[in-house]
Order: sequence, then C-alpha cells, then structure tokens
Amino acid sequence: MKFGGSSVESATAIARVATIVQSRVHRHPVVVVSAMGKTTNRLLAMAAEAVSGSRTRALELCGELKHYHVTEGGAHPAIDEHFAELSELLRGLAILGELTPRSVDAISSFGERLSSLLVTASFRRLGLDAVHADSRDYIITDGRHTQAAPLYKPTNQSLKNLPRGAVVVMGGFIGATEDGVTTTLGRGGSDFSASIIGAGIDAEEIQIWTDVDGMLTCDPRISPGGHRVKLISFAEAAELAYFGAKVLHPSTVVPAVEKNIPVLILNSRRPEVEGTRITGESVPCSNVVKSIACKTGIIVVNVQSTRMLMAHGFLRRIFEVFDKHQTSVDMVTTSEVSVSLTIDNPVNLAAIRADLEQFAEVEVADGMAIVSLVGDSIRSTPGVAHGVFKALNGTNVRMIAQGASKRNISLVVEETSLRSAVESLHSEFFSQLDPAVFE
Ligand code: ADP
Ligand code: ASP
Ligand code: MG
Repeated sequence: MKFGGSSVESATAIARVATIVQSRVHRHPVVVVSAMGKTTNRLLAMAAEAVSGSRTRALELCGELKHYHVTEGGAHPAIDEHFAELSELLRGLAILGELTPRSVDAISSFGERLSSLLVTASFRRLGLDAVHADSRDYIITDGRHTQAAPLYKPTNQSLKNLPRGAVVVMGGFIGATEDGVTTTLGRGGSDFSASIIGAGIDAEEIQIWTDVDGMLTCDPRISPGGHRVKLISFAEAAELAYFGAKVLHPSTVVPAVEKNIPVLILNSRRPEVEGTRITGESVPCSNVVKSIACKTGIIVVNVQSTRMLMAHGFLRRIFEVFDKHQTSVDMVTTSEVSVSLTIDNPVNLAAIRADLEQFAEVEVADGMAIVSLVGDSIRSTPGVAHGVFKALNGTNVRMIAQGASKRNISLVVEETSLRSAVESLHSEFFSQLDPAVFE
C-alpha cells in the first residue's frame, strides 16, 4: 500500500491513512509513504538557495520545513536529529557552491526518511502495530544519482529479511548503492518503490493510494470532465504514465508485469471507491481510446537539410547528437524536407543545436505540449485518425505520430490550445462509455 504526498500531508491525512491500513491489516500490508505534502520540492528549493550563496535563506526554509513536520507529523526525536543533519548539509553546500547529483539525493532523501518515521510513530499512537524499515537497507540501486535503477537481485534478497508480524512502514523514492550511498529513483518514484517491494515480496496486489479516484479518461489538471477507468492493461497504463499521466510513475508497472501482480489506483480520501485495476489482460472495450494523457513543457526541434535529407545516415547523425547530450527524444516525425523531434529536457539544448547546425538548419519552438490517446486496440481499429482530425479541426497541430507504439496516437499542439484540444478529443472519444470499463 503506497500513500502519496497529499495522502500524508497533515495529521488528519495520516489518521485517514491509519484507518485505511487498519481495516486491511488482516492482509498483512507493507506500507510505502512519500514525503509529506510538497516536502521534496521544498528540499530542492533550499538546496538551490544554499548553492547560490543564500545560506541564511536556505536555513530559514529548513526551519519552516521542520516546523511543518513537528506540527503535522507529531513530535519525534528523529525530527531534531534529521534537521540538524540537513542544516549541516546545507551549510556544506553553501561553502562548496556546487550541487552534484549525489548531494541532490542526500538532500531530497530527507522527505521520505522523515515521513516514514513519523507515519510509523503516528500509526503506533493510533493503535496500529507498526514497525519502521529504512528503505536504504532494502532497495539497492545503481549509482545513477537522481535517476537510480534498482538492482533486483540484491534488492529481492534483502526484502526477504523485512520484519514480519507488524505492519512495516517504509519510505518510497529512496534507496542506496551497494556501498551504502543514498540514491533516489527519480521524481514521483515512490510508486516505483511500491512495485519493487510488492514484486519482491510476492504481494497479492500493489495499491497506489493517491488524491484522485483512479486513472481518469483525461488529466484533471487540464480538464475536469474525465471519467474513472475501472480496468486497464499494464501496457496501456505504462504508456499513459510515460506520456504524462502523473498519477503513476512510468516504471511502476515493470516489476508488476514480471510477477503478474495487479496494480490498483485508489483514493485515500474516498477509500470506498473501487479505483482503477491494472492487470496483464487486455480488456475488451467498445471505446477504442482508454484515456488521453498530456505532457507540457515540450520543445520541438525541427532539423532540415535539403542536401542531406535523402542521404543515408542522416537520421543516425541526428540521433547521435541527442544521444551524445543524453537527451531523450519522445516523438519523431519526418516530412519530405525535414525531421521534427520533441524533447522535454532543455538543459543541453544549446549544445544540441550547435552540433546539429554543423550539418543542417535547425529551428526550435518551445511552449509545446504532447497529447497522447492511448488504447490497446488503436492500431487495429480503423477511423481513429479520422476522429482525431475531426475533433481538432481548427487547432494548429504541429506534429502527429501513430505507429511508434501500436496503442498510441500522439500529437503536438501549442500549450495555449492544449485545453481546448483535449476537451474536443475527449468529447469525440468519450461521448459514449462502455459501462464495463468506465464509470
Ligand atoms: P501522489 O502524491 O499520490 O503520488 P501525484 O500528484 O503524483 O500524487 O499523482 C496524482 C495526480 O496525477 C492527480 O492529482 C492528477 O492531477 C494527476 N493526473 C494526471 N493525469 C491523470 C489521469 N489520467 N488520471 C488521474 N490523475 C491524473
Ligand atoms: N517525494 C518524491 C517526489 O516528490 C517521490 C514521490 O512522491 O513519489 O518526487
Ligand atoms: Mg506521484
């Protein structure tokens, strides 16, 4: 049972979680918690202040975060210890003036280290027999700080030694290398932690408890009109997560698929709602699209070379540039005269551009968004593209791609027209709902 940041953001929220866990205690849950509320963002903000020379401001933010943990998490000896260590680290960063990925992990790990200790203590005060386990002793990862990947062999081996009997409470997101250096699994990674642990202990189910009723037919931050998807396949859920459905970290299904363990998305504020069930079966459904995901902050890179385009090796040269600058490409389309690619990470954009300009003309457009329609039977159903074009009549569509995956049609629009594009597509594909799959 994994509870996200908003599910443990306050004393009231933690009490709600305790009630949910209590009523399921006969199933011997392991509980995985995220950092309380927006703690991870706040930790990263204070680290940024420290390295940019604002030591006083960093320590002020640290004090505020401590106050929040005492107020909402409850007094606990670990709070003083952890915040003493954190402020020590911030002072060190202020002296060094440099933030390495390893220090980012050291700082951002405090959120889950604290929340897991405080939630364990709250559970005990509320009468639940709970015991804390430090995830860094169990989730063993490679050393790719801020984006670490689990090493399944040692991880599964250590998970065999999890305490038994009581409800075990662990922090999501964090792990450690084989040498014991703290790592993190990437933003939103507590979902992934839950499925690594769930698969490691051969759980019956992996439950992701969050602040929405389940996977919805569209992103509620973009448009509130979505319906709950009751059943969805691993492949569809993975695709939606990858293309921006934040409700699930994109890697979450990987360990679950391996062991064929169902993943459930549930609402900690409305535990009676049955949520979304993600399984290995492809679910027959009269709606061809299961959900629409969006990703904002997209940059389109247009590469053109009249001299080179048809020459073999042109695409390879383009991709080599993105590879060299460790920037992954989400979407690619080609036309007679150009290749368009999308990236979401602008960090190395200037260097990428300079390298591409060695052999081609380059245009860059930011402020773009990818909209992805996902459903297992998209490729085998005729007329989906027709529906897309009909719905988007009048919208300036910059790129469109089908076929990279058989269950996805993706298009790029300007962020300013994202909401209207999603709403038109939503009414086109969800005006009638298969009652077996949607509610
Ligand atoms: P947690 O802290 O529990 O991990 P997140 O904020 O990471 O919660 O994920 C839940 C959020 O995901 C929802 O509040 C919602 O805004 C967002 N979201 C994006 N796309 C979808 C979708 N298709 N269905 C449901 N939620 C979505
Ligand atoms: N606390 C981490 C984050 O904010 C991990 C998570 O919430 O899943 O990214
Ligand atoms: Mg999340």
